[in-house]
Amino acid sequence: MEQMAQLEKKVVAEMERIFPRLVDMARTIYEHPELGYEERKAAGLLGAFLKERGFQVAAGLGSLPTAFRAFQGGPERPSVGFLAEYDALPGLGHACGHNLIAVASAGAGAALAAALPNGAGRVFVLGTPAEEMHGGKIRMIQEKAFEGVEAALMFHPSVRNAAVKRTLAMTELKVSFHGKSSHAAAAPELGINALDAMVLTFSAINALRQQIPEDARIHGIITCGGDAPNIIPAFTEARIAVRSLEHRAMEALIERVRACAAGAAQATGCSFDMETVGPAYEGLLPNYTLAGLFEKHVEALGLVMEDHDETGYIGSSDIGNLSRLMPVIHPELTIGAREALPHTTGFCDAVQSEEAQRVMGIAAKALALTGLNYLIDPDIRTKVRAEFEEAGQKLGGANRS
Ligand SMILES: [Zn+2]
Ligand SMILES: [Zn+2]
Repeated sequence: MEQMAQLEKKVVAEMERIFPRLVDMARTIYEHPELGYEERKAAGLLGAFLKERGFQVAAGLGSLPTAFRAFQGGPERPSVGFLAEYDALPGLGHACGHNLIAVASAGAGAALAAALPNGAGRVFVLGTPAEEMHGGKIRMIQEKAFEGVEAALMFHPSVRNAAVKRTLAMTELKVSFHGKSSHAAAAPELGINALDAMVLTFSAINALRQQIPEDARIHGIITCGGDAPNIIPAFTEARIAVRSLEHRAMEALIERVRACAAGAAQATGCSFDMETVGPAYEGLLPNYTLAGLFEKHVEALGLVMEDHDETGYIGSSDIGNLSRLMPVIHPELTIGAREALPHTTGFCDAVQSEEAQRVMGIAAKALALTGLNYLIDPDIRTKVRAEFEEAGQKLGGANRS
């Protein structure tokens, strides 16, 4: 077997060869932003690119027409997978930079597969749609799309360089109140006011916020507040997100939100329903061994990682659920716009800058090199797996936190 350093050189050379193509594809996806589960163009483009490079590509997986699963090489194990997100945001386009994630992961898979000696393992690229709004990876897990993948790697454009960032467990709730309509001026005493119940619920949640752990978040909107000011509202509805680093803490908070709604229902005479919307997100379980390898590579390629709070400025992502099934990395790299946060027009502009392209190229190399280290070095695999098992045991089973 060739020395690791030789193979690393091969990976980097291959990445440099395909880099212009990655920039082209990133621009095409940027110029044609597609919302979650509508990413036909992006998935098709990446699938064709991988097929050209010898990957077997299965496009459209079960109930997910814009997901794909591509692989090359064997035997089946060891294996590594790169995650390509490609959905855009409504009204903002690629203001989260998923077009850069898409081509960095596809490029990493292609360069690694090209440089890998025969028989060294299997390289996967997974097209993972609808990260922003629908938790596409959670449905892909249900569809068994990650079968055979031992470890999953991706990077995310950001405002800082951080090898490890946690994410929050999250559940979205739909809360509705049922009262009784009446003329708001002529006979208000005959009505039961479902809007009052909703306003009291939000007031109770505001009070509750003072008593919850620092990492927890509760936030929401009223999606139906009544029909007309001269009718006592008989029906109101809200969407409320509950988040916490740990799944159990999130579940406890959901019960406290339920108590807020129950109290408001009792105070107003309304009845209420509370149900969950979509799948629950798990918090990201980091793998420091893999993240450390990625960090070493990006630093050798010229970026400087920063001291940071792993739990500061974080949201939720469907990679959290995957992190409970296999070791993952989801490092963040700044694309030059330190003032403009993701999901803003400023970040959207930065995504197509030359600096963003340069960082995408470094990320793609570092992802491929991390994958190479994992496939070639059995000691690394043992360490990565041991850390994953141990973290899962601490949580009392890998699927719960
Ligand atoms: Zn986003
Ligand atoms: Zn994103």
